[in-house]
Formats: sequence, C-alpha cells, structure tokens
Amino acid sequence: MTNQMPPPPSLGCRSQPILKQRGQREVFCGLTGIIWLHRKIQDAFFLVVGSRTCAHLLQSAAGVMIFAEPRFGTAILEESDLAGLNDAHAELDRTVAELLERRPDIRQLFLVGSCPSEVIKLDLSRAAERMTQAYAPKVRVLEYSGSGIETTFTQGEDACLAAMVPVLPETDAQELMVVGALPDVVEDQMLGLLSDLGIGPVRVLPARNIDSDTAVGPNTVFALTQPFLGDTHAALERRGARHIAAPFPFGEEGTTAWLRALAREFGVSDETFDAVTEAPRRRARQAVAQAAEPLSGNSVFFFPDSQLEIPLARFLTRECGMSAIEVGSPYIHDGIHGPDLELLPAGPQLSEGQDVDLQLDRCREASPDLTVCGLGLANPLEAEGLSTKWAIELVFTPVHFYEQAGDLASLFARPLRRKSILGVAAE
Ligand code: SF4
Repeated sequence: MTNQMPPPPSLGCRSQPILKQRGQREVFCGLTGIIWLHRKIQDAFFLVVGSRTCAHLLQSAAGVMIFAEPRFGTAILEESDLAGLNDAHAELDRTVAELLERRPDIRQLFLVGSCPSEVIKLDLSRAAERMTQAYAPKVRVLEYSGSGIETTFTQGEDACLAAMVPVLPETDAQELMVVGALPDVVEDQMLGLLSDLGIGPVRVLPARNIDSDTAVGPNTVFALTQPFLGDTHAALERRGARHIAAPFPFGEEGTTAWLRALAREFGVSDETFDAVTEAPRRRARQAVAQAAEPLSGNSVFFFPDSQLEIPLARFLTRECGMSAIEVGSPYIHDGIHGPDLELLPAGPQLSEGQDVDLQLDRCREASPDLTVCGLGLANPLEAEGLSTKWAIELVFTPVHFYEQAGDLASLFARPLRRKSILGVAAE
C-alpha cells in the first residue's frame, strides 16, 4: 500500500546537541569590519591602533580606497613605544589632533584596538573619554576592539555597534530599530517595505551619520538584520529595548518570516501583509528557483566564520534543495539563532567554535559538494578537489531581502557551476 501521508514536519535543530570545540581557528580578525562600516557611517573615521600587520590587512582588504579620501587609518605602535605607555598616549593624542584638524568632516571617531601586546596595555577607553571631553560636541570618540585574539571578522561590526549603544539618546517613543549595517540600496528597499506595511517610526543602527534620529528606550523594539550582533543585542536590552526574534531576512522565506514578526508586533493585518509582499515574494521565488538549479541535490559543509552560517544553511536546505552535513558557527546564541534553528531540517551536525584540524578531518571524510569557509582554508581544500565558497563574500555582497534572494543563491551556485564546466572541459 502506498503511504499517502504527507511528510512529517521539520523537527528543526533548535534542541539538537551542539558539538563545541576549542582549538586552533582560521578566521579573519574584527578589523575587517571597518571595510564595510566606513562606507556605511559616512561621517566616521576608524583609527586602528595597531601594528604594521594591521595596516597591511586594511590596505590590502580595502585597496580601492586609495582613490578616495580614506575614512580609516592605522596609528602604528612601534616596539619602542612599549618603553613608555604615557608616551604612547601622548602620541595617540597628537595623531588624533592632527587628523581632526585636517579632516573637519569627521564627526565620529572610532579608536579600534588590535592584538599587539603594547596595544592591549594601552587603555583605549580612557583615551576615548579624554578625547571626547576635548572634542565634544563636534566629534564623538568611541573605542572598541577588533583584535584577532578576541574577535572573528564579523564581530568587529558587533563591537562597533555595541560601543555606540550606550551613547544613543534616550527616548520614550514607541519605535522600531533595525540593527545591522546593510548596503544603502538594500536598507532603502527594507525601509520601503516597512513603510508600505505601515510599520514605523523606523530607526536604523548604524545610522548614516551622527545627526540621525536613532535613539533608544523602554518602548523601543529592535530587529537584527545580521546574526552576528550578540553584544549589540545585549547592550540594547540593557537600555530597556526589546528584541523581536525572527529568522534572518535571507531568501524569500527568511525575508517573509522576518517581516511577519515585525508585522505581528505592529498589528499589521494579513490582508495588508499579503498585498505588500505578494509581488516581491513571487519575484524572489522565481529568482531563487532559477539560480538554485545547480544547487539542488547537493550537500554543503559550513566551517565557522561569518556567523551567517545557520540562517544560510536554512536558506540552502529549505529554498535551494541542498542538504547540510555540518553547520559550524563561531558562536550559537539561542535568542538570536533559535528561530532559524527551528526551521533548519534535522540532520546536520551543529558545531560551535573550532578545532580546525579535527573539523578538516570531518569535512574530508564527508566530501561535501560545497564547502563554505574562510580564505585560508579555501585554497588547500580546492587543491584537494573540494568546491569552496569564501564566507567573506557573503558580507561584502548585498544578500538580504527579496530582491537579493536570487543573487544569494547564485553566490553558492557559482563554484558548482565552475566545477562542472571545468569537469566537462577536462573530459
Ligand atoms: S588585529 Fe591582530 S589579527 Fe588583526 S591584523 Fe592586527 S595583528 Fe593581525
């Protein structure tokens, strides 16, 4: 007899045991976030207090900026500065004074800490306080750490936004704050959708400049657009704001679920919701169906890198027909990742943190069709015959919300398509 029962609903992965490993890890440091943050916050300057290595990382990662007046730089601490920390403070003060004199357009200055031991010993919070007193109200000086010892590359944004939360103005207004740096064009699409749904007032963090209306208080509700904002989430809750948990807005399903959570909060009717979302949902579904064709039936293995892994695994398994073997993330935070874990079909190994050699062994043994990992692992794995996708591309490319859903699937499809073309050519 044929079983006509529908398949059981996905049990999800939210309560599944998580493999936790701590060992050597292969990730970029939090300084990398400056590359997208300096584009977003248009009156900011990011001054890395670091070594020549930090300067090289920034220069090579953001080489195109030589054509523009840069909005980041590195104050290099030489080994000799170790001799006297007071001298290092005086040197930093002098560098900042020169910078602000030369660049009156700077309204927000971020001092960004790094790994060298001489920087760790320097109290940047004291420096930021001293400078705020000297330059307020024209310039606000904040500090955070982008050190590779403490942060993976997307945590740089988290640390930066978390540093901004305590100095946001207080408000009692009932407002929605959308948190996470999105490319301007994507942010405008999102604001358009929220406005069409009648949801507002909407504030964003980070705002494009210091004069924005972004404020926080006990009547603020906030939604995250990036799954790596754990510290910012905690900082906002400390200011009395309430988080609206939702799957992240990747793909048609994630975007709809994210918008629906906000719509419920703001009392939007189902009719309005359907009327506003129907056309973009259809476009997104069509774009994903087309772009995901090479992905269907293939397996994927995520190394922990960007903290986007869980929502992306949900997108690839539920909308693109892939199966996930392992979904690794640097950190798994139930309050933030729970709704995506609930939707992720049971089956993959969930892992948090990394012992890279052990994880490489698991990956080789599983021999996935696609491996999502950092740059450092991609080349060796490609040499071993595995197809890889660089996780860092996922934060440099517009991938959120309906209009980018097809591009998101294409990003993953490209390595598989390349491999099949090369395979055909080699035959
Ligand atoms: S912060 Fe640390 S890991 Fe990052 S570039 Fe500087 S020295 Fe290297």
